[in-house]
Amino acid sequence: MPADANELIRRPGHELAAGLRAGAFSSVELAEAHLAAAERDNHGLHAWLTIEGARARAAATAADSRLAQARHEGPAALAALPPLLGLPVALKDLVSVEGGQCTAGSRILEGYTAPYDAHITERLRAAGAVILGKTNMDEFAMGSSTEHSAYGPTSNPWDLERVPGGSSGGSAAAVAAFHAPFGIGTDTGGSIRQPAAMCGIVGMKPTYGRVSRYGIVAFASSLDQIGPFARDSRDAAALLHAVAGRDERDSTSAPVPVPDALLALATSDDAAAGALRGKRLGLPREYFVAGMEPGVEARVREAVAALEAAGATVDEVSLPHTEYGLATYYIVAPAEASANLARYDGIRYGRGRRDGDTLANELATRGEGFGAEVKRRIMLGTYALSAGYYDAYYLKAQKVRTLIKADFDQLWAQGFDALVAPTSPTVAFRFGARLADPVSMYLSDACTLPVNMAGLPGVSIPCGLSDGLPVGLQLIGAPWSETGLLELARGYEAITAGAPWRGLDPAQLTLAGDPTQPTPAERAAALAGAA
Ligand code: GLN
Repeated sequence: MPADANELIRRPGHELAAGLRAGAFSSVELAEAHLAAAERDNHGLHAWLTIEGARARAAATAADSRLAQARHEGPAALAALPPLLGLPVALKDLVSVEGGQCTAGSRILEGYTAPYDAHITERLRAAGAVILGKTNMDEFAMGSSTEHSAYGPTSNPWDLERVPGGSSGGSAAAVAAFHAPFGIGTDTGGSIRQPAAMCGIVGMKPTYGRVSRYGIVAFASSLDQIGPFARDSRDAAALLHAVAGRDERDSTSAPVPVPDALLALATSDDAAAGALRGKRLGLPREYFVAGMEPGVEARVREAVAALEAAGATVDEVSLPHTEYGLATYYIVAPAEASANLARYDGIRYGRGRRDGDTLANELATRGEGFGAEVKRRIMLGTYALSAGYYDAYYLKAQKVRTLIKADFDQLWAQGFDALVAPTSPTVAFRFGARLADPVSMYLSDACTLPVNMAGLPGVSIPCGLSDGLPVGLQLIGAPWSETGLLELARGYEAITAGAPWRGLDPAQLTLAGDPTQPTPAERAAALAGAA
């Protein structure tokens, strides 16, 4: 290998792309370096439910042929290659990959094999990306810590006794731990942005309709969006560009063009910082919620001051219906989930009991196959949709949802380019800290849920550490403003490029690969025993 593998995997995707084109290393070498790190650390992190070396090597070999051909043809052919060609990507285990597992973190889908590729899988293949495997997640994406995975928890590489956030905690931990420069998550109420914040990486929830949900295991269909994880904004933009766009198989995917400007975020720090001048940002006062950790608030306010110093104007604004975000989300999301999860009857997907009559089999399959949190949501949702309660709960929640959206609309009408807020009120918490009290877990997403309710894009970017743990800054924009949000993110990266916390490795990453150390499940059990 021409470069040291440990140095190579720390480089951002856009640098790796340039190295591949220049022939400095091959895609197979890149895949090997990342696979080795993933396999080594999975003992201590459990970020991956499956690592698929053979498939990854085959994709990398194909990418190397495309690269060799283009090098032979000359600079124009090299420039025309897709940005993700030959680069490793981690997929949350709810994305269908033909012939591969797709558990959605649930026992009920154990042994199920996806019969086709998701839309985004097709897109990633066409782009020549190298899928390394599938990552851990809360069961059916219900949760904020990845502790609701039926396959055991994932550790945060910054502190192995803490959660990586969730529900896309496996992808976030894998990208933070340099197992892949790119990861895919889904965000129904915060599940990309919150784990990105807790793992110290970039995570974006695109506008509802930006990315086709075809082939993704559904949680709440009017809220779910697929989006990118990366270690910087340019990589997040490139991954979003690769997967976004209209697809007839998802009628909610929008016929809105995907801006090529996503691929042209400023390369120089000076240009990126300069673009902050004159930007109009709003600071929603309701997002500085009670219970927010002082260290989180301090980092977010410092980031706001840095943006102002770079020439942005920041005004305090109000989103008065924010306080209803949580209550309405926990009507709408479980209602939709109760309908979506009705299909897991033991006949069509995954495991099923066959030893009784049809009803007994279905009840036994669902009783054994679903975890406690999923059952709680199905009960909440079925109740909220039942005759006599539909108007009081579901319909009411949908009306309040319109008010939440109207709060944002009124700020876009006033000309704000984006809103700046914390992503999560706290840094990563210890295993078990919120398991006994579901509402305390639900509160993890108070600052992200309204964005899903309104269908808006939002991105979380790292803005420093509090007590040695990452803090996320959230940027929220008007529908279809992903490019603008990522330009702001890029600008913030530029003005903080010299910050001492940038470029730090996650503090406990080296312990993750030590086979004498406990696994995440053992750490969680020890903490539960001590409590
Ligand atoms: N934590 C929230 C929930 O449990 C959001 C999850 C998500 O975005 N998938 O529903």
